[in-house]
Amino acid sequence: MPTDVVNPATEEVVATVEQTDAAGADAAITQAAAAFESWRAVAPADRGRLLRRFADVVDEHIEELAQLEVQNSGHTIGNARWEAGNVRDVLAYYSAAPERMSGRQIPVAGGIDVTFKEPLGVVGVIVPWNFPLPIAGWGLAPALAAGNTVVLKPAELTPLTAIRLGALAREAGLPDGVLTVVPGKGSVVGERFIQHPAVRKIVFTGSTAVGQHVMRGCAEQVKRVTLELGGKSANIVFADSDLAAAAATAPYGVFDNAGQDCCARSRILVERSVYDEFMSLLEPAVQGVRVEDPRLDSAEMGPLISRGQWETVASYVPDDAPVAFRGKVPEGPGFWFAPTVLAPVAEDDRAVREEIFGPVVTVQPFADEGDAIRIANDSDYGLSGSIWTQNLGRALRVARAVDSGNLSVNSHSSVRYSTPFGGFKRSGLGRELGPDAVDAFTDTKNVFISTA
Ligand code: NAD
Repeated sequence: MPTDVVNPATEEVVATVEQTDAAGADAAITQAAAAFESWRAVAPADRGRLLRRFADVVDEHIEELAQLEVQNSGHTIGNARWEAGNVRDVLAYYSAAPERMSGRQIPVAGGIDVTFKEPLGVVGVIVPWNFPLPIAGWGLAPALAAGNTVVLKPAELTPLTAIRLGALAREAGLPDGVLTVVPGKGSVVGERFIQHPAVRKIVFTGSTAVGQHVMRGCAEQVKRVTLELGGKSANIVFADSDLAAAAATAPYGVFDNAGQDCCARSRILVERSVYDEFMSLLEPAVQGVRVEDPRLDSAEMGPLISRGQWETVASYVPDDAPVAFRGKVPEGPGFWFAPTVLAPVAEDDRAVREEIFGPVVTVQPFADEGDAIRIANDSDYGLSGSIWTQNLGRALRVARAVDSGNLSVNSHSSVRYSTPFGGFKRSGLGRELGPDAVDAFTDTKNVFISTA
């Protein structure tokens, strides 16, 4: 069934994409299973060379991919260029992995004991709509490097760049069936990834509710699973921080990608003694966020992804919401939502507890270091977070105490392809990126060779 793909900044249809049915998904999985036997046998250096060539072809198409993402997802062109570049970088990083997948030689009596890192088979990568390019790359690059083949399902709303990436992989010389992009519904294609026995691992990024469903389904076949789920991260601002820098950057820590970021620092916690001063610095910073046509180089924030997402986000800002201040949005078509700061808010407020996935942030005061840690950890989630202080000891104490997978001090950085990324608690299971990600796409085999 063909489905329209809509530009969220204009509400115009930009493409029509055929949704794969269950039989089509099974055919893609069968082809990937057949390709696995030859792909795993490709010599490590050659597999690395093919991935480097794939990275080079992506590099030649950065601008095209970025423009396509702006059209499909409403991402600012600056962000979209970074995202396409991230796919190239992740491919290049993991292209070195095939030649470094060493096992171990373990001293034992009566012989030699060695371990091998064996690929799993077909890996199903299920991608959400908020970062279509990077999240595809984080799954597919280490999976392919380890010798697996990949079937990849983009989100229904944002399939265009993934489809293009699949074509670029073939252009780079990856054999048929090694990377297959299968656009379609989660309830159809995603379900086949879960249920088909030839798929040996699922990499799922998306909401916690669907992630739980994926995990339950994978349990049936003891299928491996990596989950990257939601977040409700804290940006903790201490009185001893560079308050001007903390306030100037706080909007970008939460409103980037219109807040549709699992790492959004959507709870700002401020030490009570500097709360009023912080709020007076935050207001001009929020109003200065440039929400505009995402094609413009100056754009800092675009629209939300869909009318449905707009309505979800708006439900957190009812007429009687405690709006401290808001930014501006363009008039006319598009799913625009103004950057919004809610304060004061109660600890059990829905806006404080639930992932909004839009440009809405709450601000809460705290009394001291212990209180800040308590509030930060008072969440089902634990994905990222920031700590602003000039006291190095405090920075390290708080970083160790916050139950979260990715923390940054005096910055809002979560993602580097060379460092591990993933969540504590209900934010996920397993880690992507960094030096160890390839291991999550292998099983360890132990072989004993008798010397008797
Ligand atoms: P979603 O859970 O609705 O969908 C994610 C993907 O799962 C889509 O491709 C969808 O088609 C598919 N899906 C839906 N039902 C399925 C099923 N029954 N079986 C298999 N697949 C199914 O999430 P979304 O709305 O696209 O994305 C937003 C969510 O993603 C947010 O909660 C956000 O925090 C999370 N996210 C997490 C990370 C991270 O790395 N932790 C990164 C980005 C987004």
